[in-house]
Amino acid sequence: MPADVKNRGESGSEASFGFARVSENARQGLVNEVFSKVAGRYDLMNDLMSGGLHRLWKADLITALSPPKSGAPFALIDVAGGTGDVATRFLDATGPGGTATICDISKEMMDEGKTRAEGCSIGPERLTFVQGNAENLPFESQRFEAYTIAFGIRNVTHIDAALAEAYRVLKPGGRFLCLEFSNVEMPLLDRLYDAYSFNAIPALGRLVAGDGESYRYLVESIRRFPNQERFAQMIRDAGFERVRYRNLTGGIAAIHSGWRL
Ligand code: SAM
Repeated sequence: MPADVKNRGESGSEASFGFARVSENARQGLVNEVFSKVAGRYDLMNDLMSGGLHRLWKADLITALSPPKSGAPFALIDVAGGTGDVATRFLDATGPGGTATICDISKEMMDEGKTRAEGCSIGPERLTFVQGNAENLPFESQRFEAYTIAFGIRNVTHIDAALAEAYRVLKPGGRFLCLEFSNVEMPLLDRLYDAYSFNAIPALGRLVAGDGESYRYLVESIRRFPNQERFAQMIRDAGFERVRYRNLTGGIAAIHSGWRL
């Protein structure tokens, strides 16, 4: 990992937390507070906020991954995997050789995921949960066939460090896929979307999860995230090749993909 990435936490500089500026060292703790507070209502809120669209986007992510249906071993790491939406969809789509590891920094989010996995009779031989930071993954190099991260990377303080780690843990020939909110590229939709996200989402958060502020952060963090082209360039800078992206629902979300060759 480049020295400038490793030393960042010691610089005393600032980072954005939604629209606020906070100390870089404090930022991850604030993000963790958000997810520990919303964990119990996270899945319900996802459905309410997106009108169920997040399910279609996650299905698109798994289609893009196109995991093998055979018994060939295929190990996925789903970083910032939270309550397990992407990992469980992957396990449904892949053959008996497919295994998934969810790595998330929040114990509370993964506890929700463990309860869900037990409810679907998914055992630890197919799905494991490991607490860890996307910027410093607790896995040896070149371990996984595929790396996914859905609605996770904008919460990470040093995106370039997370991308470097994605590259490191993938085998040569491995695939990187990121589903993230992005930049709406349709003139009328962008205004409607802004009005909806800044008014309705914090209000829904207050009503359903008893926490408008956490949902305000989630909306603001979307606006702080690099647009499609800039993020694609960051993925190339981490060493990935054949980097592409595809907009979903007019750019409300996008899937970026790249290969470690
Ligand atoms: N991927 C899941 C999904 O699509 O439903 C959860 C997405 S949720 C919006 C963001 C997740 O990122 C949370 O579970 C949070 O704990 C996790 N997260 C935030 N910062 C992280 C970090 N530095 N490393 C790993 N996970 C992180």
